[in-house]
Amino acid sequence: MQTWNEMKELQPLAAQMLMNSFKKNRISHAYLFQGSRGTGKKDMAALFAKAIFCPNREGAEPCQNCRECKRIDSGNHPDLHWVEPDGQSIKKEQILHLQKEFTYTGLESNRKVYIVVDADKMTTNASNRLLKFLEEPSKQTTAMLLTESGQTMLDTIRSRCQLLAFQPLNPARVEKRLVEEGVSQSNAKLLAALTNNLSEALEMNEDEWFANVRKLVIQLIEVLQNKPNEGLLFINHQWMPHFKERTQMQRGLDVLMLWFQDVINDYLDRDDAMVFITEKERVSQAAMKWSRQSAAHCLSKILEAKRKINQNVHPNLVMEQLTLQLQR
Ligand SMILES: [Zn+2]
Repeated sequence: MQTWNEMKELQPLAAQMLMNSFKKNRISHAYLFQGSRGTGKKDMAALFAKAIFCPNREGAEPCQNCRECKRIDSGNHPDLHWVEPDGQSIKKEQILHLQKEFTYTGLESNRKVYIVVDADKMTTNASNRLLKFLEEPSKQTTAMLLTESGQTMLDTIRSRCQLLAFQPLNPARVEKRLVEEGVSQSNAKLLAALTNNLSEALEMNEDEWFANVRKLVIQLIEVLQNKPNEGLLFINHQWMPHFKERTQMQRGLDVLMLWFQDVINDYLDRDDAMVFITEKERVSQAAMKWSRQSAAHCLSKILEAKRKINQNVHPNLVMEQLTLQLQR
């Protein structure tokens, strides 16, 4: 159960636009909610539907208590239809089924609402069907198409929808959502620092390659700290074999940057900002080798390395140079 106040906190612009449509009494026939996973598209769609059906609505706010509101919460409102991918895609039959449902007028009112989740996963046939459906809007129908990547949808469908862009989540919210999805607190912090896309973060969490990046960064720091003359050996024998592509190299350097940021956080006693909070002791040890100033210097050198990798400088060369710089 969500309220507009909560949705406004999460997605100020999209929530305001939808609320305004009640104020002006101008509800569109079709909306396209576009934004990465976890940005609140489903919750917003359910709230909007509730506001449409609730007889006790005040402004845009549904009462949350009446029969209509409760049936939407429990997922069995007769005039609200959810369409979700059946396996990998949304098939033509699912849209045909929807259309059939709509040939009857609303069971209890004249209003009908349908929500298509992952609308970009419609097959070509399904898309064409839906397009026909959108082309003959009945006055009382509202469609909400939800998508992570609207670019792959038919232009003809997009152009018939009012577009609502859902903004990426801030790191604190990504972290909270990840923990809710069962990701450990320490991984959630690291992932949220690297991406604001919940789907990508969850994939990385499952990815063994990524789990090893974290380990390698910690090992690299230990080598630099305790066995400085083995630094290059470590880079050539452990680090490089793990990072075969440039995007992977960048990811590794991103994590390394977070480590040096934490060294600075340690100096500032900013535990709440620390990403490697479960490694706090190691970070504090690192702070004995790297002063705050030299940690900042390391950060700028890592950024420089990232730029060089983008400019196609040989990765081995970049990493060897960086290792020497970090030791200084
Ligand atoms: Zn209600």
